[in-house]
Amino acid sequence: MIKKLLIWDIDGTLVDCGAAGRRAMDQTFKVLFGIDHAFDGIAMSGRLDRVILREAFQKHGLPERKLSNFYEHYEQILDDILGQTEVKLYKGIVEVLNYSSAHEDMINVISTGNCEVGAWLKLKHAGIDHYFEHGGFGCGFTEREALVGYIITAMEQHYNVVFEKKDVVVIGDTPHDIVSGKHHLATTIAVLTGGYSRADLQKYEPTYIVEDFSCINDIIDMLEV
Ligand SMILES: [Mg+2]
Repeated sequence: MIKKLLIWDIDGTLVDCGAAGRRAMDQTFKVLFGIDHAFDGIAMSGRLDRVILREAFQKHGLPERKLSNFYEHYEQILDDILGQTEVKLYKGIVEVLNYSSAHEDMINVISTGNCEVGAWLKLKHAGIDHYFEHGGFGCGFTEREALVGYIITAMEQHYNVVFEKKDVVVIGDTPHDIVSGKHHLATTIAVLTGGYSRADLQKYEPTYIVEDFSCINDIIDMLEV
């Protein structure tokens, strides 16, 4: 029976796509609307695609109804860019995913600001999409707390369980990940691979902070809480 829900962020936590997402968004705006560097000055780290896109559409005076058109083009452009990009997995990620996948009481799911097509493309190009079946994605939500809440409820229904709060583990590299996990009283693991400093993330009081996932024994101890 599934007892522990591991909720993974993607960018900065599982994979480093070398800003492929930002480049693909810029290129999509160029193709669709003829606008160069459309996303300059728009923060992306830890934010939801829907919120990022809304900001860009407003900045350039575009109607939101063009959003569906955007995702169609973005998928192909991102796939092409990722194909030309060295998509890197952070240290220890495969070992942790192998460990958790081998345990029948654990399930790995995604909670990401990426839109759904973007998320699966990034995982596929990194070679880790087979570890995940379910996820919550940033195209359908404007707040990360709601996104995490959605995935917890969806997995409780799917597996017909009620998770103990401590058995929900939110893993991410930004304050947004920590805050959204704590909102649901989950265990939170903050990782420094995404560029935030220990001091930056400590302010948000995650349950744990790790440099990366290279020390599998430490991670196993955290997961057995
Ligand atoms: Mg991230």
